[in-house]
Amino acid sequence: MPFRALGLGANILQAIQDAGYTEPTPIQAAAIPLVIEGHDLIGIAQTGTGKTAAFTLPMLVKLEKMIAAGSQNRTRALVLAPTRELVVQIHENVRAYAKHVPLRVANVYGGVGERPQKEALRSGVDLVIATPGRLMDLMAQRCADFSGLEFLVLDEADRMLDMGFLPSIRRIVKSLPVKRQTLMFSATLSREIEGLTHEFQKSPKTVQIGRRANPAETVTQFVYEISKTMKPALLQHLLSDPAMNSVLVFTRTKHGADRVAKQLERIGITTGTLHSNRSQNQRMRALTDFKAGKVRVLVATDIAARGIDVDGISHVINYDFPMQSEDYVHRIGRTGRANAVGEAISFISQDEHGPLRALEKFIGRGIVRKKAEGFNYHAEPVKVSEDRPRDFTQRTHQRPQRGGAQGRGRSGPRRFGR
Ligand code: AMP
Repeated sequence: MPFRALGLGANILQAIQDAGYTEPTPIQAAAIPLVIEGHDLIGIAQTGTGKTAAFTLPMLVKLEKMIAAGSQNRTRALVLAPTRELVVQIHENVRAYAKHVPLRVANVYGGVGERPQKEALRSGVDLVIATPGRLMDLMAQRCADFSGLEFLVLDEADRMLDMGFLPSIRRIVKSLPVKRQTLMFSATLSREIEGLTHEFQKSPKTVQIGRRANPAETVTQFVYEISKTMKPALLQHLLSDPAMNSVLVFTRTKHGADRVAKQLERIGITTGTLHSNRSQNQRMRALTDFKAGKVRVLVATDIAARGIDVDGISHVINYDFPMQSEDYVHRIGRTGRANAVGEAISFISQDEHGPLRALEKFIGRGIVRKKAEGFNYHAEPVKVSEDRPRDFTQRTHQRPQRGGAQGRGRSGPRRFGR
């Protein structure tokens, strides 16, 4: 089905074409017409399925009409999302798809000064994209006027619940006009999510893409069994392969993330970190540099990496295996996006076999155990605290260009089609 059959309008179709999308993803094909018709919607879909555009595009159709009719500087749409990174990412999507629409948008999230956000809200914007905590603070200071609101989106609702945002969300939604259209997106349809739909939505239509907890099928997953002390050496060994050109490494703790990043920097691998001890600016910078290909490895913790969208991640490495199976699914959903092939590698030490078995039960299949080719399992462990480099990789490693022979093309049209 072509995009033009979905009822999007010329300006938005032009922007989609500019973005290089050739056809809607399954969730877009299913959700967009329903939203344009005015239904409330529950979208069950993981990140990587094109869900952001599935709500952003029809929202823009509505906003474009309201703006054309004279929106009187009133906020018409609100998107709530769990993390700052996701807010910024949704905004990037909105900017791309609304490039031919005169839309005013305010981003609202914690960890940065309130004043510019207050000013943006007071200046009158059509759309607010916000994390619930900061938005509630600003609403308490009477900086936001949602009395003209017609469109609400709760993105990654399951994550917002996990992060304890339910009381803030309730208070925000209570203050909104009852007559509105409400969309909710979640990776899974749990009892809590069903409860939320009863609370916030009216006769919603459900669109479900993919089975529950189904890690992206384009991702190759395997496990290296390795002692804890050998993990640093194995990581260095793997990174000596230049095909690993854009790698997201997950650690369990912030401290662990810093340690791994330091180790990699010491052997000349450009590395960024994404965790909650870093300032908002540092986090944004790490993400921007990684997206731009200036940084080859990004080391992250689960909370900080939630929902981030980076094209062309070649590998996800679970340096520490996640305790929660859901986190595994979220982590590996970062690669293999848009039908591109990716690899998810997990390091499993003695005490991580339990969570691995739990995951295998959760996803209903076993994960292949492999031996790392050419790796000396009996070598001396790399001491990560030492000052002098022990170089297992080429220090002068040149990162291949994304989109070149090693990388994945970014310029051509992207296709889904699972
Ligand atoms: P999301 O699931 O919203 O995080 O989207 C994942 C990625 O898919 C983003 O990088 C989008 O830019 C991209 N994308 C969304 N819709 C399409 C489409 N119809 N065709 C190709 N790529 C898309």
